[in-house]
Amino acid sequence: MRFHFEQGPIRPPSESRSLLLRFTRNCPWNRCAFCPVYKGRSFSRRTLAEIKADIDTVRSIIDDIKALSWSMGEAGEVSGQVINRILTDPAKTGCYRHVAVWLYYGEGTVFLQDANSPILRTADLVEALRYLKEKVPGITRITSYGRSATLARKSMEELREIRDSGLDRIHIGLESGSDTVLKFMDKGVSAAQHIEAGVKVKEAGMTLSEYIMPGLGGVQWSREHALETARVLKAIDPHFIRLRTLRVPPHTPLWDHLQSGTFQTLSDDDTVREIRLLIENLENIHSRLTSDHMRNLLENLEGTFPDDKPKMLGIIDQYLALSDDDRILYRLGRYGGGAAVRRRSSGLSTPLGKSPQGVATGDRKRHRHPHRRAGRTILVRKFGAFDLGQGFGGLMALWCASRMRESGSGEPHEARSHRDKGGTHVLLSMRTNGQERGVHQAGRVRQAARRGGASGSFDRRT
Ligand code: SF4
Repeated sequence: MRFHFEQGPIRPPSESRSLLLRFTRNCPWNRCAFCPVYKGRSFSRRTLAEIKADIDTVRSIIDDIKALSWSMGEAGEVSGQVINRILTDPAKTGCYRHVAVWLYYGEGTVFLQDANSPILRTADLVEALRYLKEKVPGITRITSYGRSATLARKSMEELREIRDSGLDRIHIGLESGSDTVLKFMDKGVSAAQHIEAGVKVKEAGMTLSEYIMPGLGGVQWSREHALETARVLKAIDPHFIRLRTLRVPPHTPLWDHLQSGTFQTLSDDDTVREIRLLIENLENIHSRLTSDHMRNLLENLEGTFPDDKPKMLGIIDQYLALSDDDRILYRLGRYGGGAAVRRRSSGLSTPLGKSPQGVATGDRKRHRHPHRRAGRTILVRKFGAFDLGQGFGGLMALWCASRMRESGSGEPHEARSHRDKGGTHVLLSMRTNGQERGVHQAGRVRQAARRGGASGSFDRRT
């Protein structure tokens, strides 16, 4: 039997351990200026029969995995031995592995793809949810993305029925509470609709997660974006506020605006100031703010209102109080090596809380400052020729350069990488405020194949 079911391209970061099931394909709106995800792909609703067939396939995979476990003497559990057997078997499909890993984590959460499952006819969505819960017992939470425009159109009765059938949580891309920004970005929804949808979702008994996008107002509307977003969030008081900082990918309408000068991105520091203004104005709410997206500079910026508000403002103020050079190094570390060293450095205590990932790893006791960790290198100096390296080093150089440009840290005009016994070295030459400087990031970079990721360390030499 070919164990395959359909899955879409993305999920929220908080759903990394969820079973992904596709109820609709792509995005019915597909016009947001900043969003590249579904451009060029057309939207369709999957039929109830298709959705049920996929759920049946998941059920068959679960049964097959349980039988394997029994045959290995693991009493039906997806133990380390069972998961290793499955992940090292080249005959297993990606879907089969996905279900196996889902069982292994044992959290029982499910995420419905793609961009707007509530757009299904309520009767179909309800039937699909009931079928899912019947066929796959032990599900602890079902979550989906939903557009405010769609949710605001549903009646309270419909939303309650959907909730009672098992949809526990909705993630809404609120992005901004400013009508000016929403219109410019062609979000297809107004601030009033955001409020209406958010209030209704909560009233129906679902957990509400609102994604907001720092930087989306650009230079022109930054203040309005922060203040109006705070106003809308105060009116909704969602369970979660999640930050997802703007990035402008090529092949989006916003990229064209950037090229023509009709939109200007904020620098990283101004984005941090904008987030500060937003948090400052969030009063009388009880939401939990999280910074769980890799695009966010301050990933330890999290807490629950109102108690943690001073702590969150303090984290921002500590960053802004760093010297110019230290802020550049902080950003380079975060963007250049963040993913690479996250596992090793998490939990380090620094003035900014958890480690500003990637600047360094190593001896915790000697780390009084994120950029002054013993025996590591980030060398600031002038240097010469352009020579982008190959392979991982080249990618790293390119990545560092593009992030530094995007973040407004300066204009990288040279990027170079090479490998030696010490690992992969990346050198960037930057122009910041008319001054030229070089940033040398040296790292030992090795694939941690068993853990499926790279790890590295960065050394400050001067
Ligand atoms: S609604 Fe969401 S998925 Fe659709 S275009 Fe906008 S941001 Fe992208």
